[in-house]
Amino acid sequence: MNAPRISRVTAGSLKRLLDCERRLWLSEHGRGHAAPRSDHDELLGGKSKSLEERMALEGEMVGPVMSGGVTFEQAAAETLRLLRETRASIRRPILLSPDGKLSASPGFIIREGDALVIRDVRLAHRPEKKREHRVRTSFAGWLAHKLTGLEIARLEIVNGLGQTVVIAPEPAEELEALANRALELIGDSPEPTVLMAHSHCQDCDHYAHCWDQAEADRRVEVLPAVTRRRAELLHAMDVRTFDQLATMKEPQLEHRELRDAAKILLVEARAWSSGEPVWMKDPGLPLNRPIVWFDIESDADGERANVPVYLWGIAVDAKGSTLDDTQRPPFEPIMAELTRAGDRDAWERFVKRALEVHEQHPNAVWAHWHNAEPMWIDRYTARYGAPQAFLDTVRTSGALFDLHQAFERSVRMPVRGTSVKLVAPWLGFHWSNPNADAEWSTAMLHRAHRTQDPAQRQAILDEVARYNADDLWAMRIVWRWLAANRPR
Ligand code: SF4
Repeated sequence: MNAPRISRVTAGSLKRLLDCERRLWLSEHGRGHAAPRSDHDELLGGKSKSLEERMALEGEMVGPVMSGGVTFEQAAAETLRLLRETRASIRRPILLSPDGKLSASPGFIIREGDALVIRDVRLAHRPEKKREHRVRTSFAGWLAHKLTGLEIARLEIVNGLGQTVVIAPEPAEELEALANRALELIGDSPEPTVLMAHSHCQDCDHYAHCWDQAEADRRVEVLPAVTRRRAELLHAMDVRTFDQLATMKEPQLEHRELRDAAKILLVEARAWSSGEPVWMKDPGLPLNRPIVWFDIESDADGERANVPVYLWGIAVDAKGSTLDDTQRPPFEPIMAELTRAGDRDAWERFVKRALEVHEQHPNAVWAHWHNAEPMWIDRYTARYGAPQAFLDTVRTSGALFDLHQAFERSVRMPVRGTSVKLVAPWLGFHWSNPNADAEWSTAMLHRAHRTQDPAQRQAILDEVARYNADDLWAMRIVWRWLAANRPR
């Protein structure tokens, strides 16, 4: 029989608390809601482990103290013995308060004379900038000091570049207050009702639980324009549902922070309350011109990555958007090999193809969603250069058309944001792989390049390309819907 699970406040609990206290509550009380680990999580977990292993090789270490057959309490007792009776530096120590309620397991505790250095490993390039990282490492130092009485000489984090940075400790009273709040939440306190912003929640394991419930309750917080501050102001006016907000008039939203967004708040509320799109104005589509659907896939590490943009995807609708969805234009993925030379080669092939397209369709519109595409064109132009003809035609002649901007300025739908991933499904479009997103795509790309089997590699790259193609078809659906339904 498995031993009963003991709830403890860990450094990870404090991270979740800082992120969202409901998240901490759910991670303790609602484990069934959590999403399974993604490929991207696995990728990050593997990178973090290998960075920690590399660091461990750089000094004399004992540990990890937690290994097969050793219980958590035994590992904690051994950590304490090593800290009190020896001068050993320890990899993955287990720090556990005497009442068993608080625990921490930093990457390393290093001996420095009679004092201790707490060292954690984080993949971020500047982890010291984020409070969650400072709190987690400080919490381990605070607990180590409480357990041993030894001075903490320094707190350090090894970042994703392998550099060791010293971080300022969080005040002890702050740590104590956070630990106490975390203890309340993992205890028997009721589920918090807080709903964070959609952009914050969408990657959370509990997204479906919180947002489906909020929609069912018709909470005003589901509107994209309702920030946490605006939600507080609306609640103070006793406006809790989008149905209530939908009946209001602009002058009733008097507070400056509501007044500034009054129009969009009311349009969104009316869309949600009626379940129908609400128009603000004509989207201004450049109609009756050939359309080049254009979407890139880029590495989340941006310019720090060896190959920042690994896929330049286009499809040319020579007759504009009049074709129906069963007659999609050929998809043209321009994919980079994951080397610096491959990066340059893909950019040059993209520029060459863009010039050919311009030659055939000088009046074409290059439709993209949001600003990543022009931004990366500019960055690659700075990186490798581009022929003047390319800059004059595709980049600076007004050929690029931000469909997201046109959508956002003209209409609101009862959806949780204006991402194409939310808008296109409302119009009936579905990605071939419902679990695919930008992170998934990058994780798959790296998996493809790790595999030794050429057939398997190609199959994975094809999946990445299919995801990019779906992004193009999603844009195409939105364009056609805007064109057909715009106010005239
Ligand atoms: S989905 Fe949002 S509100 Fe819910 S637990 Fe996660 S971060 Fe908090």
